[in-house]
Amino acid sequence: MVTLFKDRAPSGLVPIDKHFRSRWSKRGSHEGHSVWKSESEHDGTIHGELVAVHIESCVGCMKCVDACPTIVFTKWVSDLETEVVDPSGERDCIFCMVCELVCPTEAILVSRDGGSQETLDSLLRSE
Ligand code: SF4
Ligand code: SF4
Repeated sequence: MVTLFKDRAPSGLVPIDKHFRSRWSKRGSHEGHSVWKSESEHDGTIHGELVAVHIESCVGCMKCVDACPTIVFTKWVSDLETEVVDPSGERDCIFCMVCELVCPTEAILVSRDGGSQETLDSLLRSE
């Protein structure tokens, strides 16, 4: 049975480890992006590279889905049967950082080192 946002308490969840890229290891892939685990493997799972989501800290509120201008996030039912988001379109990120701001549990970490200049240019041209 899928656990919905209204049944999960945001309190008590830990923010994503801001240093996970140096502390955690890539243990696989999903929908074209990396899947990370900590050394102890007790800290959960992080999906993504440019746009990373700590799956166990996501409460499935979908605020990032609504806020992202380039449709980076998609709704996904995790291996724990919880309704969360997956950064399946991370290559289209334009670094507006809105998703980090709206996430109530600080489950998202965006890398400032990459991303799609092409997508940003096309969005500006369409204004
Ligand atoms: S930084 Fe902006 S473009 Fe990138 S995933 Fe977050 S909301 Fe989307
Ligand atoms: S805003 Fe945060 S808690 Fe809400 S769906 Fe996105 S990653 Fe999950």
